[in-house]
Amino acid sequence: MASVPTGSGYRRQLYRDDAVVLRVQKLGESDRIITLLTRRHGRLRAVARGVRRTMSRFGARLEPFGHVDLQLAGSPEGVGSSLHSVSQVEAVALYGKQFLTDYPRYTAASAIAETAERLTPVEREPSLRLFQLTLGALKALAAGEHAGGLVLDAYLLRAMATAGWAPAVAECAVCGTPGRHAAFSVPAGGAVCPDCRPPGSAHPAPATLLLMSALTDGDWMIADAAEQPVRRECSGLVAAHLQWHMERALRSLPLVDRRENP
Ligand SMILES: [Zn+2]
Repeated sequence: MASVPTGSGYRRQLYRDDAVVLRVQKLGESDRIITLLTRRHGRLRAVARGVRRTMSRFGARLEPFGHVDLQLAGSPEGVGSSLHSVSQVEAVALYGKQFLTDYPRYTAASAIAETAERLTPVEREPSLRLFQLTLGALKALAAGEHAGGLVLDAYLLRAMATAGWAPAVAECAVCGTPGRHAAFSVPAGGAVCPDCRPPGSAHPAPATLLLMSALTDGDWMIADAAEQPVRRECSGLVAAHLQWHMERALRSLPLVDRRENP
């Protein structure tokens, strides 16, 4: 690992990682602050300097939703400035370009990126599983083999599982009795059996809970075959479950355009 001296007295190390670009913010005239979900160093923010001047080879690679290979400067352990800087960037796959002309997919990608950021409240805390899920979801959105809304809901369900609060689907959320239960209660934690069902539980169509379970398990044969009303009901329950567990509502989720192409 190389290190370069800085004026502030400690040595900034150069290190490499690959990452998904979650967010890009302007910093002054020509710099950007890039929020990255990296494979090995968790979520971190880095300054990209002079992206406007060098737009063709540098800035264009640091657009939201891209998978990039980076060289970063800063202490990977988090000592010193919390803001790292990007010193090199190579594109692995720039998915963002493919969403620019496709509003439903763009809004789904935005909800994925916001969820990834919200599920990593602490910088530089590695979460390989969440990185893999986030990259996989953007790749699947770009490939277009499945409806964007289904890709998003599958991502939300699995991302919630990494945080430890995925809804119960194959057992009662309260007593753990296995089986497919008809009632669903967000405060109780998912599907609930007749004995545990709290007042005000929803009674979704059986196909809706089947879809939720298929999305959790990656059973795309079942998921792709689900009818629109079933998809809508499933999205509503997934969103309600997500919002219940998050301190603040996701800004991007209500904006997701679920008109489907495939
Ligand atoms: Zn029960």
